Amino acid sequence: MTSNVVPLTSIARSRPAPAEGGGCSSRSCGSSEGRGDLPPHIWDKVKDHPCYSEEAHHYFARMHVAVAPACNIQCNYCNRKYDCANESRPGVTSETLTSEQAARKVLAVADRVPQLSVLGIAGPGDSMYDWRRTFETFRLVEKRLPDLKFCVSTNGLALPDHIDALADHNIDHVTITINMTDPEIGAAIYPWIYFNGRRHTGVEAARILHERQMEGLERLTARGILVKVNSVMIPGVNDRHLIEVNAAIKARGAFLHNVMPLISDAAHGTAFGLAGQRGPRPAELKELQDRLAGGANLMRHCRQCRADAIGMLGEDLSQDFTLDKIADEPGFDPEPRRLYRDVVERERADRGKAVAIASADLARVPDAPARLVAVCTKGGGRINQHFGHAAEFQVFEVDARGVRFSGHRKADTYCQGGFGDDDKLDVVLAALEGIDAVFVAKIGRCPKNDLKAAGIEAVDQYPFDYIETAIAAWYAERLGGQSAIA
Ligand code: SF4
Repeated sequence: MTSNVVPLTSIARSRPAPAEGGGCSSRSCGSSEGRGDLPPHIWDKVKDHPCYSEEAHHYFARMHVAVAPACNIQCNYCNRKYDCANESRPGVTSETLTSEQAARKVLAVADRVPQLSVLGIAGPGDSMYDWRRTFETFRLVEKRLPDLKFCVSTNGLALPDHIDALADHNIDHVTITINMTDPEIGAAIYPWIYFNGRRHTGVEAARILHERQMEGLERLTARGILVKVNSVMIPGVNDRHLIEVNAAIKARGAFLHNVMPLISDAAHGTAFGLAGQRGPRPAELKELQDRLAGGANLMRHCRQCRADAIGMLGEDLSQDFTLDKIADEPGFDPEPRRLYRDVVERERADRGKAVAIASADLARVPDAPARLVAVCTKGGGRINQHFGHAAEFQVFEVDARGVRFSGHRKADTYCQGGFGDDDKLDVVLAALEGIDAVFVAKIGRCPKNDLKAAGIEAVDQYPFDYIETAIAAWYAERLGGQSAIA
């Protein structure tokens, strides 16, 4: 099994502790808030959830089981018939499971991936339309793994019919995909819906969907269930409108808003892909996310996972856990899960102190322009990956106000079988457009020079340090401040 998961015990390395504890200064992104920034009952719900907490995604893994193939709407960005083992995007799955098969698979994954904290059902159709399979799966899993959090993702059309059942299964997290509040715009996204025994089309279909989504959202938040809203940003269709969507969901109590770029490729066979509808460029997505700051809290670390994704966000172990690779009755040892959680608690405390030092460092930097930096990391909140092995970069923005998570950029791994591949380097350089520096655990001389020629500094003097402390020290040094941690 090739896992990006890093044993935290092997990488712990502390900075000196400050007199007072503190949190990351990235307050503009609600999903990155830590223990000190959230009410205790909310922190308790999000602290181990890699999608609801940006901080938790450094430590915990999720898995989706594809038990819900039926769907009640057609979206112009979706084609569930397309499958590819190497494709990572919503709706794609290699195999559809029965509830029993899914429960077996969850146990096998929990045994081998102690970081697993969340089981989600995200299709490949709709979890609430195919509700019997969804709830049966949860019923079977909760008997063996009571510490696992359950999560569903839905288009919202059938959601109001299942609020009580969701609460009865202790489901704290529900994601609704809401792309519009204006049915005229919705008609350009949804050709039809199936509701109350018949097919509806056009503006009427979008109006029904909108009303059901808002009803579901209001009733979930009234029950204290955290709701994340996913919106697909479709340039020229709903990109400007998403500002109204953000305000509408905030008013109804949504916990997070996750604006995702449209993935559009004619090869996927979607209506948008075949029509040549483009997705947004990274800069357009970031500009919209920045405009939304101050509204509903934003999620910026979504990886738009497959319906059978397994592992830390940014990695996918789904091909290691296909049914043919799982025993009929998988064994399960709970001890590694318990030990792992102990390690995470210690790491969190240590990292919180280190980040407080970083914040103090930055406060001494004279007012200066923000910088965008990319980080090679395998998790744990540390710079712990070789440049040549990075399949994606985490991106942070830094200025005197703090170090803020900004998103991630996918790339191809530069190192192939021990040698650098120049073609891959072009892909990596394209992914790093607009980035000032890339932080690595290690990098070879050739790619370092190539990055320099492209105007990007390769920073390798902070291997295994916490991401925030390293970026803060680097920024303070470059911008003339006095670093307390250098
Ligand atoms: S698609 Fe986004 S929200 Fe869903 S599991 Fe993946 S990272 Fe989390």
